Amino acid sequence: MDCIFCKIVQGILPAKIIYQDNSVVVFDDILPKAPQHKLIVPRKHISTLNDIVCDDQELISHMLFKAKDLAKDLGIAKSGYRIVFNCNSDGGQVVYHLHLHLMGGKLLKP
Ligand code: 5GP
Ligand code: ZN
Repeated sequence: MDCIFCKIVQGILPAKIIYQDNSVVVFDDILPKAPQHKLIVPRKHISTLNDIVCDDQELISHMLFKAKDLAKDLGIAKSGYRIVFNCNSDGGQVVYHLHLHLMGGKLLKP
């Protein structure tokens, strides 16, 4: 499958990976919109948030908990941060492999 994030997850394409486990890989966004901008990416290819199924509940929960833990590790938990799932074109999704943005380290405009 011709998917950039599948290739990063599989180690075929490089990325600045800061965390990985059996279900997710976390790496720096290549075009950061904040001083801290990480992408929490499931190893499993899921195209969009519309495509999650009941079996993915644990995975989605894990992604959210990982965002919270990483925010603390990155020192942005207290100052605050934003997590975002973009879905399809009106949502601004560009890469069609599910990912959760974690952004912080400055005041984020609405
Ligand atoms: P989306 O708009 O799909 O929610 O966000 C995709 C994000 O992936 C963008 O913020 C973009 O900068 C990032 N991105 C796109 N291609 C690459 C890549 O090859 N490597 C990394 N690390 N980030 C990427
Ligand atoms: Zn993929």
